[in-house]
Amino acid sequence: MVATADSRDTSVVRPADTHDVFNQAPPLEGYDVFSADPALVEGLVREGAGWARSDLERLGLLAGAAPTQELGRQANENPPVLHTHDRYGHRIDVVEYHPAYHQLMTTALDNGLHSGPWADPRPGAHVARAAKVIVWYQVDAGHICPVSMTYAVVPALRHQPDVAGAWEPMIGSTTYDPSNRPVAHKAGVTCGMALTEKQGGSDVRANTTRAEPVGGGSDGSYLLTGHKWFCSAPMSDAFLMLAQTPGGLSCFLAPRWQPDGTRNPIRIQRLKDKLGDRSNASSEIEMSGVWSQMVGEEGRGVRTIIEMVNHTRLDCILGSTAVMRQGVAQATWHATHRSVFGKLLGDQPLMANVLADLALESEAATASALRLARAYDAAPDDRYEHLLQRLLTPVVKYWTCKRAPQHAAEALECLGGNGFVEESMLPRLFRQSPLNGVWEGSGNVICLDVLRALAREPEALDAYWSEVALADCGDGRLSRAVDDLHVDLSDPITLESRARSVVERMALVFQASLLVRSAPDVVAEAFCASRLGGGGSGVFGTLPMGTDTAAIVARHTPT
Ligand SMILES: Cc1cc2nc3c(=O)[nH]c(=O)nc-3n(C[C@H](O)[C@H](O)[C@H](O)COP(=O)(O)OP(=O)(O)OC[C@H]3O[C@@H](n4cnc5c(N)ncnc54)[C@H](O)[C@@H]3O)c2cc1C
Repeated sequence: MVATADSRDTSVVRPADTHDVFNQAPPLEGYDVFSADPALVEGLVREGAGWARSDLERLGLLAGAAPTQELGRQANENPPVLHTHDRYGHRIDVVEYHPAYHQLMTTALDNGLHSGPWADPRPGAHVARAAKVIVWYQVDAGHICPVSMTYAVVPALRHQPDVAGAWEPMIGSTTYDPSNRPVAHKAGVTCGMALTEKQGGSDVRANTTRAEPVGGGSDGSYLLTGHKWFCSAPMSDAFLMLAQTPGGLSCFLAPRWQPDGTRNPIRIQRLKDKLGDRSNASSEIEMSGVWSQMVGEEGRGVRTIIEMVNHTRLDCILGSTAVMRQGVAQATWHATHRSVFGKLLGDQPLMANVLADLALESEAATASALRLARAYDAAPDDRYEHLLQRLLTPVVKYWTCKRAPQHAAEALECLGGNGFVEESMLPRLFRQSPLNGVWEGSGNVICLDVLRALAREPEALDAYWSEVALADCGDGRLSRAVDDLHVDLSDPITLESRARSVVERMALVFQASLLVRSAPDVVAEAFCASRLGGGGSGVFGTLPMGTDTAAIVARHTPT
């Protein structure tokens, strides 16, 4: 058949021959992802990083632009490819990423998402970075993994000042340089972590990787032999790892290239075919004599690497918060453009209830994430903030990450069938949503960490009560929930088997106290009524009668 001039001209959108297309929501693009999220804007200022507002507005506009969203789609739909050998059979262990992934990484590093608070540690630096991560994660989650690990590696490296002195200036560079060569020839670096082995990820003390000192170990160099079962971002320039020495489990930094300019023998066996996080490579590696440097004291590997783990846990919270915010943005946008049974979807009372409930969850997650980020800012010089950071990191991680999958499923349902279709981006959010609950401590392990914090640093609970009490007079339901929580925590014998329900209530009380203090009354009232008032089923869309759902939805709908 000969194509007519008209049918070849793809720039002209013509009505279909059979029907008019109407009542479909336009794509949510060309908006400022940051400014459209009042909970994020207000939280940024409240937690001491108002100075970063113009940077965030710029990043927010970029994140919401159609070409950027297209990059996110491409990065997600073109997962990385492993090349173990070159054409001649030499081992190369190279992972090839889609160009869109590299572009997203370039922006992430340019905005200091990987190192801002270390390179420029002004008050509010962790809060500013947290807000940026929440914004940029909404474009594509996968590439944030190496960004998070690079950010988190620094406090652990500082246990070994000579190693930190060599690496920190490179980590502080805002240039993304994906080239595979020794760091001396690079303009910037990224870092990873490899703890999980086949026989155990939560129980890292079961690690079997061995470290042998080079030349007696006098210069802190070791050769690592063994494997790691999850090693995300395997093209990182260096990895923190745990390995056994005669003195016990210790922490090491293994670069991709050895000091003599040859490749370190880190063999990438294969890449994982994952549920979500598709743009990012997660690999299985084997090591035979990998050159590394000890970080921190011999035998104190867990104590050293926990510094990194805590910072990646903060990023798990930020990632799940971003998933929820993007779900709310997509669902409310759809509901303000789609009509059903003669009314806008968002004006149907039952849908307004669902949307408002989703928005409350997102707002509570945002407020608690940013308050926690402030604790990261202040902790080094302030004991109270240190104690809050210690206890609230696992409390907030547990609850935020637990809520994200339910939230994503419900946001998807708001779009009906369109939400189940890949083009809507909701399936991507849904597949991503469980990840942060698994990574860096799964639900039970995180709850047990809360109990560990309570047992080892009882003052942390005092700090928690003080923080919550800042809103004590604000809501009777909050006061009663605090009293109930005191009772819950009073019986340590049965605490382990009750840990999930206790940690959930600790999170809810903390979130309620923040909202009572700082959110609009309509938001705080609805949160306390639905989360502390009893009677809720946990299903979204069950806000009690009298809730001003329209006001809550209007606050959270992108314009
Ligand atoms: C996409 C992705 C990327 C990852 N990237 C990395 C990476 O870069 N580096 C890295 O080191 N790891 C990485 N991981 C691994 C991750 O950190 C581990 O999967 C996680 O820590 C759990 O370890 P595991 O898989 O061995 O499960 P297990 O430790 O076997 O745990 C299985 C289940 O048992 C529960 N459990 C464990 N102990 C207890 C207990 N005492 N009481 C009750 N319940 C318990 C856990 O909560 C979990 O639900 C990644 C994982 C994913 C999904």
